[in-house]
Amino acid sequence: MTPDSPVVPDPQEVAQISANLAAIRTRIDAAAAAAGRSPSEVRLLPVTKTVPEDRLRAAFAAGVTEMGENKVQEAKRKSTEMADLGIHWALIGHLQTNKAKDVVAFAHEFQALDSLHVAEALDRRLQAAGRSLDVYVQVNSSGEESKFGLEPDAVTAFLAALPVYSSLRVRGLMTLAAHTDDRERVRECFRLMRRLRDAGREAGTVGDGLLSMGMSGDFELAIAEGATCVRVGTAIFGARPTPDSVYWPGA
Ligand SMILES: *Cc1c(COP(=O)(O)O)cnc(C)c1O
Repeated sequence: MTPDSPVVPDPQEVAQISANLAAIRTRIDAAAAAAGRSPSEVRLLPVTKTVPEDRLRAAFAAGVTEMGENKVQEAKRKSTEMADLGIHWALIGHLQTNKAKDVVAFAHEFQALDSLHVAEALDRRLQAAGRSLDVYVQVNSSGEESKFGLEPDAVTAFLAALPVYSSLRVRGLMTLAAHTDDRERVRECFRLMRRLRDAGREAGTVGDGLLSMGMSGDFELAIAEGATCVRVGTAIFGARPTPDSVYWPGA
């Protein structure tokens, strides 16, 4: 793409994404109201993995200013291609220590912190760059062996160990619920998260105490149990070409 041939978003694409966003926002607001919560407490983070640049420019035209990506390389590439838009990039997938440098280069937020090695690597790079990073601690709330994230009983000690990494701003906890149609099992995952968050609040270690949980298939349940950020991909952008096992092994 040369500077004199800007990508002009397809108006139909913009209209379709706008309609999908509005429909999701309506459902979020209804779920919050049903739970006796203020809809403004629930942030919608559009998840843009596998969605190509032209559609993301359409999404931006439809009002999307935050994008969640699972993989560092894809996120980094997109943040470069779309640097002109000033998007807030949230990395929501597992990170290897050796990629910390890349995260510091583009991400505004990292929602999948689950190791002190990664915390240490990020902090070192952030200190060198003179910046901070919003982080959520990822918890494996489903007990599924394949999921990333801390075991629930490791969360207390993990949170207590984070303050030394002073460039990390702890916002709260993040999870993927069990991959099942059993609504009660899914709800249990979200309840567990809420309990862990409440314990962290009590201990004063969970930062802002936010809860990032809920995706296209379960965000209403997550909101009922206290989600403050829902990460929604397919319900906005349609089905992905890649299977979910690419992102969370075993899905
Ligand atoms: C892809 C992804 C989502 C969104 O999933 P959908 O089912 O498409 O809404 C949420 N969280 C994470 C970590 C993801 O990788």
